[in-house]
Amino acid sequence: MINIKSNREILLMKKAGRIVALAHKTAKENIKPGISTKKINDLIENVILENDAIPSFKNYNGFPAAACISINEEVVHGIPSKKRILKDGDIVSVDIGAIYKGYHGDSAWTYACGKISEAAKALLVGTEASLFTGLEMAKANNRLSDISHAIQKYAENLGYSVVREFVGHGLGRNLHEDPQIPNFGLPGRGPKLKPGMTLAIEPMINLGNKEVKVLADGWTAVTRDKSISAHFEHSILITKTGYEILTKL
Ligand code: MG
Ligand code: MG
Repeated sequence: MINIKSNREILLMKKAGRIVALAHKTAKENIKPGISTKKINDLIENVILENDAIPSFKNYNGFPAAACISINEEVVHGIPSKKRILKDGDIVSVDIGAIYKGYHGDSAWTYACGKISEAAKALLVGTEASLFTGLEMAKANNRLSDISHAIQKYAENLGYSVVREFVGHGLGRNLHEDPQIPNFGLPGRGPKLKPGMTLAIEPMINLGNKEVKVLADGWTAVTRDKSISAHFEHSILITKTGYEILTKL
């Protein structure tokens, strides 16, 4: 069942989303060669706690950190570590969730560390654009898979591939609620979008092939062909006329 949020719930989700955006601002400012992913995680966690929120991901199904930080061929769910030191030319996907008064915000962004290759730059631009192309379909009376289809079409037209194993989701009182939102598929399928639905849309796009595998740590998903991967996510509210981004300042 897809929950329709009340005005009160939407206000709390906007607060949660703003805290996630604040934490992203800190992450972005600190991503540079020489910093460990653990240090970035700790800075993110501090922002969340200072704003009277709780990291959504810490202890979620046993995840050991506040943020997922995934480098280069890592797609999602990278575990922050003192031993993972960022290098010039890395692309760094940072996924952050925060709970404010019981409600979640969830947003991911891939950042450039120092000077990155032209191919990496293009992948970041293309993946962000695939998110916003999908969001253009996020409006009342469209079907859920209209978003999915728009993302896939945009990314594949650029010659990239769409990860199948991980998908977007509803969110609110829970980090993951109905519906699941694949970043691929035929248009015109699935539930009709209604004002008050809150959704996390999150394309994960690979430069090479779509196949991924999970490493022995049980969390980190990587591309099988070791090509780089990008991840852009916003939590949004469906409105009468379109959508509103919740995970913004
Ligand atoms: Mg996320
Ligand atoms: Mg998410």
